[in-house]
Amino acid sequence: MDTQEYARALRSRPEVARLASSSNLFDELKNTRQKLDVDGETLYVLEGDLLLDEAELEIYALQQEALNQARALGLPVVMESSRELLGILVNGRIVRWPVGKVLSYAVLRQTFSDSQYQEIVAAMKQATEAWENTCGVKFEHRSQFDNSAPGASIPQVLFTVRRVSGAPFIAAAFFPNDPANRRRVLIDQDQYFNLPPPPDGFDRVGVLRHELGHVIGWRHEHIRSGAPAVCPHEPLFETTPLTEYDPQSVMHYFCGNRGTRGLRITEKDRIGAQLVYGPPLHAIEFVDIPEGAG
Ligand SMILES: [Zn+2]
Repeated sequence: MDTQEYARALRSRPEVARLASSSNLFDELKNTRQKLDVDGETLYVLEGDLLLDEAELEIYALQQEALNQARALGLPVVMESSRELLGILVNGRIVRWPVGKVLSYAVLRQTFSDSQYQEIVAAMKQATEAWENTCGVKFEHRSQFDNSAPGASIPQVLFTVRRVSGAPFIAAAFFPNDPANRRRVLIDQDQYFNLPPPPDGFDRVGVLRHELGHVIGWRHEHIRSGAPAVCPHEPLFETTPLTEYDPQSVMHYFCGNRGTRGLRITEKDRIGAQLVYGPPLHAIEFVDIPEGAG
């Protein structure tokens, strides 16, 4: 089901329809949220680096209202999370890429300066290797498509990495269940390339490790119930805790004296990631028993 269909289905539920008619959070968000136009499509920015199109923003507003109403009625809504790293649920199943799927990408050269392009190619290599050494995912840079025109559809790669300007974030990504045309890692001209290293700023490779965490299905760690209240909150609907709350997680923002400026993958991140994807692919050795043996 795509997001438009999902929004329609959600709206047609009687309890949601009642809620939607008595509130206008969707309109309010549409009018107040920061927006970014990418290749002619308007995206809304929520809680840092979450990008939603209009249909997704409506789903978000409906979920947020349901959450608020349930809280007002004293209903238990927030999942008790004794485990960490947040995965995404769709119809009760964890969202992930199929095992063995090659997560291929192109770095859109025309959107970057030459030196920025070189930096991003190298940083993506490091960040993808960090995840490949953590769990059973496989990335591949298909540089033969790097000269493609920005905005062109490139069926030979799963996602593109490109520069944008004037974004209200350092970088942003997508989730495995986002539609194909939204599979982009966006890197902001000023906020990323002028980002000082720790302790004043963030590790730039770490920023990509965080974004690639979204790409393989992780939500933000700081939206969990154990996180400091000053951290930005997002609805926990359709997420599932994979391990216990980890304030050092690569998926945690730097807020409430938690999070790290290095944005490294922690031991708890590794355990959570392996629950979904298994161990690194290069760590597994197979012994093929010959036909007729035994
Ligand atoms: Zn993020």
